[in-house]
Parts: sequence; C-alpha cells; structure tokens
Amino acid sequence: MKNTICPKCGNETQELYDGRCKDCFFENFKLAELPLVLHAKICATCGARFNKNKWANTGSIEDIVFNTIEDALFIHDRAEDIEIYFEPRQLSPHMYRVKVEINASVMGMPLHQKLKTEVRITREACDACSRISGGYFEAIIQIRATNRQPSPEEIQKCMRITNEVLERMHKKGDRFAFISNSAEDKDGLDIYVGSTNASRHICKEIESYLGGSFSESPTLFGRKEGKDVYRNTFSMRLPEFSAGDIIELRDRVIEVRKFGKNVTGTDLLNGSRFLAPPDEVKGATLIAKRSTAANAVLVAIENNELMVLDPDTFETVTIKKPVLLSAKAGDEIAVVKTSHGLIALPEEVSRKNNL
Ligand SMILES: [Zn+2]
Ligand SMILES: [Zn+2]
Repeated sequence: MKNTICPKCGNETQELYDGRCKDCFFENFKLAELPLVLHAKICATCGARFNKNKWANTGSIEDIVFNTIEDALFIHDRAEDIEIYFEPRQLSPHMYRVKVEINASVMGMPLHQKLKTEVRITREACDACSRISGGYFEAIIQIRATNRQPSPEEIQKCMRITNEVLERMHKKGDRFAFISNSAEDKDGLDIYVGSTNASRHICKEIESYLGGSFSESPTLFGRKEGKDVYRNTFSMRLPEFSAGDIIELRDRVIEVRKFGKNVTGTDLLNGSRFLAPPDEVKGATLIAKRSTAANAVLVAIENNELMVLDPDTFETVTIKKPVLLSAKAGDEIAVVKTSHGLIALPEEVSRKNNL
C-alpha cells in the first residue's frame, strides 16, 4: 500500500483523516462540546417550554433540562454508536447543574468524554396562559334549541362534551384549546373558546350526540399588526325534540328515541318502529315526556285491551295494549293523553346509545 505524508507532522501514514494522519487527527479532537451555561424558559403556570421562538407543551422540568442540553450539545460528525448519560442536580428552582457523559466510537476508536453545564431556568406566562388570564377568545359557541329552551341535562352534556374535546385537542398540541369564559341564561349557553378549530370539533361532537346542526360565521373584531382579526361565532342549534319526547305528527303519535341525522322512535298507535329524516318531523307537537308522563291504575287486561282509570276523570276507559307491557291488574302504568285518546306507554327499552 502506498503511503502518504501527513502535512501536519510530516510522518508517513497510510490514510489521511480530514487531511491529517490518525495521531494528528485525534490530537486536538473534541468528541463533544457543550456551553457552560444554558438557559431554559418555561411557563410558570402550565410548564410549557419556549424553544425556537415558540411555546410547546413538554414533559416534566427534568425533561426540559435534558431537552435544553440535547439541543445545545454538539457531537462530532464522525461519532458513531453514541450514548449519552445525564446526571442532573437541582440547586434551586431556577438552576440545575448537570454532568453529561458521552460514549461513542470514532473510526473504530472508543471514546469517552465528560462535560458539565448549568441550566438556568426563567419562568414567565406562556402565550396560552397569558391569553387565558386576559380573557382572550377566538370563537363563541352559542348553544340554543329549536323552538324551545335547552334542558339542564342538555347544557350539562354540552359542557361535558366541550371539556372532553378540549382536553383531547390540547393533548394533540392545540395550545389554545381552552375555555376562557362561559355564560348561561334562559335561552342557552355561550362558551368562549381560545381556538376556532377546537370549537368546530366541539360542535361536531355535540351534533353527533344530541343531534341538531350548527353554522359558523366570522365577524371582524379589529386589527392587529396590520391584519384583520376575526372572531368566529358557532351557532349550535339542538333539535326541537329529544329522546323520551312524545310527539303528535299528523295522524301519528311517536315516542322519540334519538334525534340525530335521522329521527328514530316508536309509533305508539301500532307499536311499529319509526324512522324519518328530521325534516319530516317539522311541525310536530310535543304532547308529553316519558319522564313526566301521568300514571294510571290498570284495572284489568283483556286480550289486547287494557282497562285503566283515567288519571283526570277516574273513569274506566278501554285502551289498546302495547306489545311491550308486562304490568298486571292493580299496577300503575304510564299513560299520555293524545288527540287519539289515552295511550299506554310501552315498557322502556334500554337506551344504550344515548349519552
Ligand atoms: Zn500527523
Ligand atoms: Zn402556560
């Protein structure tokens, strides 16, 4: 093999590394370098880390210390099989002293290096936390119901869905997925949210659980740094009827089971299943709710007929027996007054799919 001359020391060598013989290459070789002092900025409230000009959710304070070191640590390009060990020591809430050990191999030569650094921590309010404390919001979700007021249960469900969606979005990195305010009055609920995108997800989720529909409209709010700033209003409209409502629709009496993309329920006059798009239920009248239906004493059962005491007049009336009814004479059963006379409600089938 032909030898060459090292331009640095003049010795003969078989190979040059970065233009020098192996001895000269390793003479001033630095496997790794690390500044003696590093700075980390974290949010005093939520613990987010400020890095590369933006705030991001991270793990514990120790994770932030490690990440700060990793970001500043320079390791030689030729290093392979790199192993890094950290030994952090907290001196104060504002300072960590960290020993770093690096094992690697460079051109087949195993190398080891110890380094020391100090990570200084400053705490301030991150973009999201300062927006929360300043009452900032990007969108308002207005929850209303069609031709009625939302029930307290619906308001509760909407609030629960909102919190669940926000938590999920926040975990996925939407830092503005937070509620900055909410207000409830007789017409419904207004929720002020930091993120338009999260608000849209909330409305979609409410729609899939409670039915109804929503629309979105931006309004010009002002100008910031030469750009128009918009706020979005989401009008969430819950459906007119919900599970357990008993409605009269033309010549039918229906107990609603679910009011979503389709309306499902039971036709109480013949016991058949009811399924129709919401448009077909327009103009129906709510006559009762299962939860507040009147009770009537069942006097006797004959074939497919029931004799019951009318809860208002206490006269005995004969009505049709629902298919699903196991009550015996003497029991009380739920009844509703309709334009077709008194109707007995069938026994409740378990409602698994309702939130
Ligand atoms: Zn040399
Ligand atoms: Zn924060």
